[in-house]
Amino acid sequence: MAGTRLHVRHKSLNFGGVKNNFIINIAILAGSMMAPAMSGCSGGTARSVTPAAAETKAERVSVPQFSADSAMANAASQVAFGPRVPGSDAHRRCAEWLGDRLKAAGADTVMIQTATLDDGTPMRNIFGRFDAGNKRRILLLAHYDTRPWADEDPDPANRTRPIDGANDGASGVAVLLETARLIGSGEAPRCGVDILLVDVEDSGNSGEDDSWARGSQYFADNMPYGATEPLPEAAILLDMVGGRDARFCREMFSQQYAAPVVDAVWRAAREAGHSDRFTDAIGGAVNDDHLPFLRAGIPAIDIIETTNEQTGSFNPTWHTMADNLDNLDAATLKAVGETVVTYIYNNK
Ligand SMILES: [Zn+2]
Repeated sequence: MAGTRLHVRHKSLNFGGVKNNFIINIAILAGSMMAPAMSGCSGGTARSVTPAAAETKAERVSVPQFSADSAMANAASQVAFGPRVPGSDAHRRCAEWLGDRLKAAGADTVMIQTATLDDGTPMRNIFGRFDAGNKRRILLLAHYDTRPWADEDPDPANRTRPIDGANDGASGVAVLLETARLIGSGEAPRCGVDILLVDVEDSGNSGEDDSWARGSQYFADNMPYGATEPLPEAAILLDMVGGRDARFCREMFSQQYAAPVVDAVWRAAREAGHSDRFTDAIGGAVNDDHLPFLRAGIPAIDIIETTNEQTGSFNPTWHTMADNLDNLDAATLKAVGETVVTYIYNNK
């Protein structure tokens, strides 16, 4: 795989020789991760059950209705704080608001994981747990920080300005806040759900892999799970899930190292009526918040737009001043939200 040339613009990843160590690292983990079949909370675990228990297990849990309006409002609220650049006042206030939102949604616990990273960047991960005692868990995550520089903006004068990050950041969090509301307010899914709103994803530099996804790296190195507690059986990352008419291909790392989870989520998309949005093509390989979880042995996938018709990679608003609310698509948020909720409540 090293040396493969990819058409997609990565957040930082290229597949030149310097990436060999990284690829091997992941590949070593891959064998152990590929074994179990994942099919959402209600299936996939091989354990013997009595007929009565099997009947109970087969009871249908109804999938709650995802509100695109709520998701859009969640995105607008984040953007209203201003750019959520780590260390800024807007970032701190948004982080507090996010923690409050998870509590209000009914999370059993909300933990704020703080650290000062090597270069002095203050990091604050927000971690809410639903049905925390449940041994079967799904982890959902999205980054809430925004890129400090619109370095892909067509106008050079904008390239040192911070972005609104309506799509790159706020969209994934918006979907997860609405998902949290549904989990906490109605019928609970059979599995526990952890929601991680992760920090310091998007302050990276091109060509420096480890400078991206730093909040996720920290979290994966310091996971707040008890010693006897099983790790989540799957992790689903939402990143840039609000682009206009966005289509989601199978991100390459996800497909390579967590294919059963990709299959299950794409199946949920079909069930939710969004097979037009979730296509079976293989998309680009993205250095993103899922990689630290793959390295930690958790099958993790990235739902991200990487095959935009106009750019051949990310949405055209990526890391530009145009990544604003005007360019956010409620129908895309809805397709992704309904897919994720269907996956969690998977009643097959
Ligand atoms: Zn970004």
